[in-house]
Order: sequence, then structure tokens, then C-alpha cells
Amino acid sequence: MKKVYLDHSATTPMRGGVLEAMLPYFAERFGNPSSIHGFGREAKVALEEAREKVAGIFGAAPSEIYFTSGGTESDNLAIKGTAFANRKKGKHIITSRIEHHAVLESCKFLEEEGFEVTYLPVDSRGLVDPEDLRKAIRDDSILVSVMHANNEVGTLQPIKDLAAISREKGIYFHTDAVQSVGKIPLDVRELAVDMISMSGHKMYGPKGVGALYVRKGVRITPWAHGGHHERSRRAGTESVPLIVGFAKALDLMAGEMGQHDKLMRSLAETFYRRLVESVPDVFLHGEPTERIPNILSVSFKGVEGESVILSLDLKGVAVSSGSACTSGTLEPSHVLSAMQVPPEIAQGAVRFSFGRDNTPEDVDYVASILPEIVQRLRSISPLYAQKS
Ligand code: PLP
Repeated sequence: MKKVYLDHSATTPMRGGVLEAMLPYFAERFGNPSSIHGFGREAKVALEEAREKVAGIFGAAPSEIYFTSGGTESDNLAIKGTAFANRKKGKHIITSRIEHHAVLESCKFLEEEGFEVTYLPVDSRGLVDPEDLRKAIRDDSILVSVMHANNEVGTLQPIKDLAAISREKGIYFHTDAVQSVGKIPLDVRELAVDMISMSGHKMYGPKGVGALYVRKGVRITPWAHGGHHERSRRAGTESVPLIVGFAKALDLMAGEMGQHDKLMRSLAETFYRRLVESVPDVFLHGEPTERIPNILSVSFKGVEGESVILSLDLKGVAVSSGSACTSGTLEPSHVLSAMQVPPEIAQGAVRFSFGRDNTPEDVDYVASILPEIVQRLRSISPLYAQKS
């Protein structure tokens, strides 16, 4: 059976060259980068080369890059770390309703600790209005956290405008760019953000590694205490093989961003056109143009997204119904709810996320089997009135 993977927003396969770069650091060059002998120095060189590579891609200084275990840890460190370090200044945090759970749950935890959080609304395209941010800012606001590309619908936020408002008011600005890093050019000076979260496994690198960019001068408290690793902001011996793999994957992506973007656009646009031509009552979620091109979230009226996913799985096609973390539940997604998508449409949402190994033949295969799947599910759905 043909197998087609269209769930790259959940995770990506490691690309060629990444594993090869990592392998020596598991056994041969196994040293601890904190050791001062030759084995340690060799590992330290690899660690600092990786840091320089990552920093260079974002226009950051190497000392502004902190390696973590992934996007979740980076979000936690950014949000809780700045909240606790700046609590004497204020207790108010601003975020959006459509953030990843790593951000939302960190904010919820902070609410239990006495902080106050404002959750900004989004419009039907999933966009935060910069004016809403301006209005939400209070004298005791210390942090704004708004994601770059949404992981369910792909909408890109006006980060530059939001960060400019925060900076004008002297409030730190964090963005979760886990879905866009390596796919869309990001320059920390141009965007004028204070913190950026990234993750290796969303951009063809290994799982269990990520990074947090922290602008020099930002006050942040570590969540884990121990040794003086990562300039005392993230205790624990660095995973040199994973970090080398992360930097290698990012470097390779940075070298082909334009080409990747073009391919994603062409695959997603062709696929969407085919869908609209062959299946009635299809709804596209998210901002139609200001979006990360590899994510396409659509609803098929009258059918459950989960049923489409299972039917596609039987044909060898992997897609998901929302973020990897929320799929498996039948709760309408918090992102689509915030976008005011009616529950009966939200439940039919399916996320197709394309990747660099996908081909026009993959698109053709999935587009050719979907009409029959949707038609069959609708024929047994009490929610869908057939128009014939
Ligand atoms: N932020 C966003 C936007 C994500 O899509 C994800 C993963 O789905 C994460 C954070 C968490 O990243 P990780 O899986 O590396 O912990």
C-alpha cells in the first residue's frame, strides 16, 4: 500500500545528513562539555559551534542561544522564567487564546501562583489585532507571548507590530516559533523580539532538543537548578549529539528556505484546488494568505474529522485533526473555538501538513481518495443533508 505522510506539524522525519552529523557524539566523541580535558574540550567545541550556527541564522549573538529539550521546555522557561524574575515589577501577562498548550498551561500555572493573565481574542482568520494588545497593556504588565505560526491552522501573526507595541511600553515579548523556525526567515533584530522558542523535531531534526533565544539583558529565572550549564539558565549536562543534530537540521533548512516555501505552496495549493473541485462543502480554516504554507486545515461539513483521519489511515495516509497533543479527544479545538468556528464545522477539521519529501504524486493520491471517503461518511451522517 502507498504510504503518504501529511502530518509534518506533529513531527518530521530526520533529514539526510543530520543523523550522520550526530553519530560521532554518541560514542566516539562522548565527552562532557564541562570537562576540561581533551574529551570534554572536543564536546565543548561541537556545542559552541552548534550555538554559533544557530545564532547566525537568526542574527543573534551565540550567548543569546540556550539549548533546551524542545519547544515545550523553551516556552516554559520563557514564560515562567520571565514572570518570576520580574514579579517585583508586575504580575500581569498577556497571551492569545490560540497558543500551544505549552504556553497556555504555563500561564495557567502562573495564575495559580498569583499572576494575572489576559488572553487576547483572535478574529475568524486566527489573527490577533495589535490594537487589542495595546488596550490590554496595564502598568503592571511584564510579558507578552504570542505565537508566530499557529500549529493547527497555520495563521501567521503580525509579530513585528505586536513586538513593537510591547517594546514601546517596556514589556518583554516572547514568540513561540516552533512551527515556523527553519521554514520562514526570522531575524531577531528586525523583529525586535526578546525571546523565541524553537524545536528540533518540527524541522527535520531530532526529537528532545530545542532552543530558546533570549535577548541580552532580559531578566529570566531558571526553572531547574544545578550546575552552571547554559550560563546558569538551564542546568543539566548538554546533550551534545542532539544539539549537533538540531544545528545541522536548522542550517540545512536555512539553506533551502526559498525552495522549501515554493514546494509547500505548490503542494498545498494544488491539493486545496483539487479538494474544492471534487468535494462539496469544504471550509478552509485560518488566514488565506498570511499563513505558513505547509499547513492546510479544512473541515468537511457533516463529518467528524476523526472519521476522515481513520479512513485515510486505512489507505496509508497520515493526517491529524489538530495539534498532536489535542488529537485523540473529541473536544472541539481551542483554536477553532477562539476563531468562532461553529462546533459542528470545527469537529470536521482535518489538518494536512506537507513536508519536503512530499511529491505531486502524494497530493494526487490523497486528493483522489478523499472524495469517496467524505461521500461515504456523509451518506451515514445524520448531520449532513444530501443535496441530491
Ligand atoms: N509550540 C508549538 C506551536 C508546537 O506546535 C509544539 C508541538 O506541537 C510545541 C510548542 C511543543 O514542542 P515540543 O514537541 O518540541 O515540546
